[in-house]
Parts: sequence; C-alpha cells; structure tokens
Amino acid sequence: MFFARISKLRQSLAFRLTVWYAVIFVLSSTVAFALFYLLITQVIRQKTDAELLSQANGLSHIHLLQGPDMMRRAAVLKAQATGEQKMFFRLFYPSGVSFASSNMTYWNTIGIDRYAVDAMVEGGASYRYVTQRVPGESYDARVIYKRINHSILLQMGYSLESEERLVQTFERTFLVTMVVLLAVAVIIGWFMARRALSGVAMVTRTARQISENDLESRVPVLRRDDEIDQLAVTFNQMLDRIQQLVVSMRQMNDNIAHDLRSPITRIRGLAEVTLTHSAGAEDYAQMAGNTIEECDRLLQMINTMLAISRTEAGMDPASFQVVDMAVVAREACVLFQPLAEDKAIEWHFAMEEGRWVSGDPPMLQRMVANLIDNAIKYTPEGGRVHVGIRADGGSCEMTVENTGPGIPREDQAKVFQRFFRGDQSRSQGGAGLGLSLVYAIVTAHGGSINLESLPARYTRFRIRLPLVAPL
Ligand code: ADP
Repeated sequence: MFFARISKLRQSLAFRLTVWYAVIFVLSSTVAFALFYLLITQVIRQKTDAELLSQANGLSHIHLLQGPDMMRRAAVLKAQATGEQKMFFRLFYPSGVSFASSNMTYWNTIGIDRYAVDAMVEGGASYRYVTQRVPGESYDARVIYKRINHSILLQMGYSLESEERLVQTFERTFLVTMVVLLAVAVIIGWFMARRALSGVAMVTRTARQISENDLESRVPVLRRDDEIDQLAVTFNQMLDRIQQLVVSMRQMNDNIAHDLRSPITRIRGLAEVTLTHSAGAEDYAQMAGNTIEECDRLLQMINTMLAISRTEAGMDPASFQVVDMAVVAREACVLFQPLAEDKAIEWHFAMEEGRWVSGDPPMLQRMVANLIDNAIKYTPEGGRVHVGIRADGGSCEMTVENTGPGIPREDQAKVFQRFFRGDQSRSQGGAGLGLSLVYAIVTAHGGSINLESLPARYTRFRIRLPLVAPL
C-alpha cells in the first residue's frame, strides 16, 4: 500500500518537476561554488606568491649591495617580524647543503625540493614556486626557491595554515547552506508545482464526474488568463458542444420514436378495423392501399434521415460538377409549377445565368426543391413566391421568398433542427426534415444559409455558395 503510493507519487508530474527543480538548483549552485572557490584560491595564491617574490627580491638586493651577512640578518629579522611559525627562510648551496636559516623550530621537517631546484637551475630561471606539504602537519607551505647568485640559493616559505582554514570554513559553510537551501527549494518547488498543476487536477476531477454521467459539470475558470485557464475554457467549450450533441441526439431519438409511432399506430388501427368489421375484398384492398401510403411516408422519412446523415458525414468531391445555379433552379420551378398554379400562386423569377458553383447536381436539386416546396406549401392561396439567383462578391446568392404566415422569432433558430415543425404547419404534410437536409447540403458545399422572416408577412431563405469559374 505504502509502496504503491510512493510509486504513484513518483509518476506524478509535480514530483518530476520538483526533482528537476532540485537538480537544476544543485547543479547551478555547485557551478557557482566551484567558480567562487577557484577565484578565492587563485587570489590567495597570487597574493602569497607576490609577497614571497617581493621578499626574495628584497633579500637578493640586500645581498648585492651589502653582502651575505646583512642579507642573512635581514632575513632573520623579517622572519621574526612576520612570525617564525608563519614564515621561514633557508640559504643553501647548489649541492643542497644549508648554511643559514631562520628559527626552524616549527619547520624542521620541511626539506629542500631537489626536483624544483634542479628544474629552476636547468631551466635558467631565477626563481620557482612550489607548494610543499609540511610533514607531520595538516597544512601546506608555499615556497619560493630563488637564485641569489651562482653559488647561493634561497628557500623561503609561508605557512598556508590560515588560508587553508579559511577555505575549509568556506567549504563547510557552503555545504550547510546548500543542504538547507536544497530542503527549502524542494519544499517550495513541490508547493509551486502542486499549485501550478492544481488547475489540471480540476480538469481531471471534472472529466471524472462527467464519466460518471454528470454532463452539467464545468471546470471553474479562475480568470488568471494563464495556460490552465485556457485549458479550462477550451475544455468547457468542448463540454458545451458534447452536451449540445447529446441533448440533440436524445431529442432526435424521441422525435424518431414519436414520428414512427404515429404511422405504425395508424397502420395497426386500419388492419384491426378491417379485420373486425370488414365484409369483403374491397375493404382489404383499401386497407392495402392505405398501408402502402403510410409505408411510403415512412420510407421517405427514413431515406431523408439517411441522406442527412450521409451528407453530414461529408460528400465525395469526386461527385462534384460545375453547374449553373440558374439551370438547377429553373428545373425545380418547372417541377413545382402545377402545384403553384393549383394554389393560384404568383411566381416571380430573377435568375442571372452563368452563376457557376461546384457541387453534386442531384443534391443541389434537392436543396432547391425543398426550399421551393416549402415556399409553395406555406404560402396561402393567391400568395406570392419569388426565386432569385445572383452573384454577390465571390458567392452565388440564391433567395427563395414567399408571403404567408412567416416563422415566429422564437422558432427561427430551430427550423434547421431535425424533426422541428412549426405549430402552424401541423395541418400540412411533412416530417420536419426538409430544412435539416437543406442545411446539411449547403454546409457540405462550403456555403451558408440564413433565414429572415416577418410573421404574418414573409419568409426569405438566402443561400450563399462559393462561385467557381465555368468549365
Ligand atoms: P416540414 O416542412 O416538413 O415541416 P421543414 O424542415 O421543411 O419541415 O421545415 C421546418 C418548419 O419550418 C416547418 O414546419 C415550418 O413551420 C417552417 N417553415 C419552413 N419553410 C417555411 C416557409 N417557406 N414559410 C413558413 N414557414 C416555413
């Protein structure tokens, strides 16, 4: 259980961010420390070396001007003044035999570095620095070997004890500070990562609630305008869309069930009446006729539903042809002419020729036919229908307008939904699928449709399709 929790924690993004934060912190601190350390030790060394060289040069000068005795005396005095524990000098011959030195009580273990002396002599250099371990002690000494003349050599050394102690104190302080800062960095990093990711956790919680069938939940937007807020807004928009789809699918299921039930109930009623009351073959023939009529209506509804689904799923551009919209509209008008005449409807056309669009001809015909069919269906006797085609910018604009009851404002947004039927249209035939199919066809052709209607006056559908060059 405990190990499972630890392993879950290790997989979390907050944990990984914290580890990265800590690693970057330790690395950058170590680099900063290393640079600082190098700088300090170099400055100390340069200072010591410069001091040693100036002392050695001073003694060499005294030897030149005042002879070896004065030089020895000056060296002893210098060692005493600096502190015999802190500094020593030794004069020796190239053979390595020492003939004078300061008080060597603290330095008796330190010898002459033959290698350094030989290298200096052979290299023709006048001096050379070495860092020599002081045997039996925990610190080093910085030593200069200098040629006073061809037969006298000087060895002068400084204890590095206090400098090394300073560096050790620095190292210890750095280590302690690092441990404390690392702990603080891990704690702060963990809280920062948790806080930054809390928005993601909210999105996850909401997604979980939704998978438990609560489509109403939304991720709270904190209005910080950061990435998490953008994620929340996008996620909520996606949820709105899903909810809309689910609601419309439920509605559609209800509508399909309802619209299928009525004709089936009618068919069943007819059959029952015929069975119980019928006297002869004539009644059965009438029942068969009615059943065929109802079945045709059902089949038409089902076919239209399938056509809408197929069109919404996308149309095959291979079936597209370049067509003149005026030709398509005129063919539909010819088809509906008798219907219009029956209702004494006044026709108006204003069709510009040669407005070419790319599309599937049978589908475009269906689109136009559905609009004209509706226009004639909902225009009262003696009313007026107008069909127009014209170019408008880069679009071919087609309008189908009719006088009549119009569409109430509150219904105007719903007419393109499947199975929607206006109250005043109940007396008319239809399943409420015509405009849904028109909408699907227009969308599949990259166009747009809009509706304007003034109740009790007129209804106008305006379709825009992209114009193309004629073949
Ligand atoms: P249907 O005509 O089968 O009822 P549609 O999808 O074609 O279904 O139309 C949906 C609804 O829009 C209709 O029931 C009607 O109320 C309204 N409508 C459509 N076209 C017109 C029109 N030209 N004039 C008035 N109302 C219309």
